[in-house]
Amino acid sequence: IERTLVLVKPDGVARNLTGGILARIEAKGYTLVELKKTAATRAQLEQHYEEHVGKPFYEPLVEFMLSGPVVAAIFEGHRVIEGFRAVAGTTDPTTAAPGTIRGDLGRDWGVKVQQNLVHGSDSVESAQREIGIWFA
Ligand code: ATP
Repeated sequence: IERTLVLVKPDGVARNLTGGILARIEAKGYTLVELKKTAATRAQLEQHYEEHVGKPFYEPLVEFMLSGPVVAAIFEGHRVIEGFRAVAGTTDPTTAAPGTIRGDLGRDWGVKVQQNLVHGSDSVESAQREIGIWFA
């Protein structure tokens, strides 16, 4: 069965949206396999965001992800990777579709990094890699 790595980012945790976000994923029909609240380390984030090293938003992104605890989860189900990304909505929360996590709960706060509440793996290979980073 396919698995994906979901992170509730520090903005979601700080706004007490964790339970509401996880409930949307469960309500869609996916099964929670593992769950933990954790303080990310710089080393974990360097691995997690290795494809973004050198981009203008990379440092602000890492600083944001270090600004407070995150909640890491593994969800499972047929086509969960694309299913979660549909539930999450597009990257920019201001224009993400209503009905999605980002579209209903997020917006641009005028800072250098998109504070968009959640992360989800984008392929089977990234999911395996990211699960190894957050659930070693
Ligand atoms: P999606 O793939 O749906 O965009 P994602 O979280 O995988 O979601 P990435 O493109 O991998 O998005 O970027 C990682 C994160 O970096 C984003 O979720 C967002 O927080 C931040 N980010 C991405 N692009 C920008 C940008 N142009 N400006 C500011 N922050 C950005």
